[in-house]
Amino acid sequence: MAPMTWFDAHNHLQDPRLEPGLPDVIRRARNAGVSFMSCCGTEAPDWPRVERLAAEVPGLIPSFGIHPWNLRGRGDRWLEDLESVIKRVPSAGVGEIGLDHALEYRCDDEQDEVFGRQLELARRFERPVSIHCRKAWESLLQGLDRVGPLPAGFVVHAYSGSPEMVPAICERGGYVSFSGTLTRHRNHRAQAACMVVPEDRLLIETDAPDMLPEIPGRQPAPDEPPNEPANLAYVAAAMVRYRAMPPEMVAGLTTDNARRLFRVRE
Ligand SMILES: [Zn+2]
Repeated sequence: MAPMTWFDAHNHLQDPRLEPGLPDVIRRARNAGVSFMSCCGTEAPDWPRVERLAAEVPGLIPSFGIHPWNLRGRGDRWLEDLESVIKRVPSAGVGEIGLDHALEYRCDDEQDEVFGRQLELARRFERPVSIHCRKAWESLLQGLDRVGPLPAGFVVHAYSGSPEMVPAICERGGYVSFSGTLTRHRNHRAQAACMVVPEDRLLIETDAPDMLPEIPGRQPAPDEPPNEPANLAYVAAAMVRYRAMPPEMVAGLTTDNARRLFRVRE
């Protein structure tokens, strides 16, 4: 049987927590069949590192954006700087961007504004968008509708919304990606959502170094190791269970979908 090929549709390989052992992290990802990954910057200071990784790691698709957790430090020139890196790297997407109403301190107007500006950029330069959304589903749909259709599509990563919200995302050209939360047995909402995503819109991710999946036999420890792309296998096992499909089929369709979204031809 041909080995399976996987696409980790969302991670942060540039994170300092992964840096010390990065060559091993990449080797273990390859051994686990993770041939492609989407690596998202989250604030201007980490964009150069994401850009460098894209040049060094085969199959790594970079994205650049300002995460809703990092609005405060963005400075005055952030939009010009984002536009110039997007122009300089033709393979790049826009992300990670989004809305987070679960934050303790938040300013919704500021989130809407920064999110909207980045969506406009993605629309203008025809780039795929990686979106973070927590407890802000109505605002997400409004933000998307204000900007209008995104020609290169988008993904809602680490999906935590309801199954009922899935069609609203897909109608707007979106993909829905599942992370380690799917491995938590009591997370019935994620499981139900995973079951209703159309086959051509389903993605899978680690969100490494965050969202460590539940790993059979491993007890939760006070200082968890960082999550890494090789752990996609545990998310995949959960997806295989809830979609009731053979692993080869889950690998095949999620990889095809991510390659279409992130425009990976070979
Ligand atoms: Zn992320």
